[in-house]
Amino acid sequence: MLIFNNKTDIKALLAKHKETNSTIGFVPTMGALHKGHLSLLEESVKNNDYTVISIFVNPTQFNNTEDLEKYPRTLEADVDKIKTVNDNIIVFAPTVKEMYDNEVTSAHFSFDGLENQMEGQHRPGHFDGVGTIVKKLFEIVEPDNAYFGEKDFQQLQIVKKMVEKNSMPVNVVGCPILRETSGLAMSSRNERLSDDDKNKAALIYKTLTEARQLFEKHTVDYVTEYVKSIFKAHPEFDLEYFEIADEATLIPTNIKENKKYRAFIAVFLSNIRLIDNISLN
Ligand code: AMP
Repeated sequence: MLIFNNKTDIKALLAKHKETNSTIGFVPTMGALHKGHLSLLEESVKNNDYTVISIFVNPTQFNNTEDLEKYPRTLEADVDKIKTVNDNIIVFAPTVKEMYDNEVTSAHFSFDGLENQMEGQHRPGHFDGVGTIVKKLFEIVEPDNAYFGEKDFQQLQIVKKMVEKNSMPVNVVGCPILRETSGLAMSSRNERLSDDDKNKAALIYKTLTEARQLFEKHTVDYVTEYVKSIFKAHPEFDLEYFEIADEATLIPTNIKENKKYRAFIAVFLSNIRLIDNISLN
């Protein structure tokens, strides 16, 4: 398996592949890989001649220093997991200096308001950091197809918007959320939960599925109040937000129109911040 730390070298290899009109699929990650990440890799391998995965804990998208410091970094184990999907996957694992030189700062982006909701409100600067790194990585890899999980639905919509607004020649593919058998959405941050907390965290998806059922017959306010009451009754959780929003604009709603809606949640458990979402109709 080829592992690159240096952008010049990986660009040279990919340039050779592009000369033969091979297609490049790209899966950007921050590592600590789990089956959710591997499902994106499988989708890319299936649909492209070559697949590149980046493993890079991007400092500019963290608004919390402790979260950045404690983010798991497990490159060796990650490489072993990648090999189980396919031995020809190309790994790009650069240093912060390689990606940012001496200026670890974000560019400023407008994503037509998508950046102002939910994660954008609660994690100031987060999506400028995401936009900055995804743009840098797209410029290095120049993928035909790039794979992003619906686990980070707002991020997926924002990357699609960035591509559309800048006419970038890449097709952004959204992939379904992989879950533990308990329903808990797989996440690198789950590694920081105790086994006991992992069991408790199943409440998040259970409540989302209840919200989806209630949404069929009840108002948005009714569903929202129900979800809030569940987390109030479980004080080990600290609910940061629960929103029902238009899937296209991500603007929270309290009326139902003929649109696609999704419920979004962010909740703390033992100081670990967990996010999830579910399609409602
Ligand atoms: P991360 O390493 O957390 O930045 O995630 C890298 C990519 O994997 C992003 O596109 C995520 O949305 C996606 N991803 C993370 N968790 C899951 C999951 N449980 N199912 C599907 N995709 C996921």
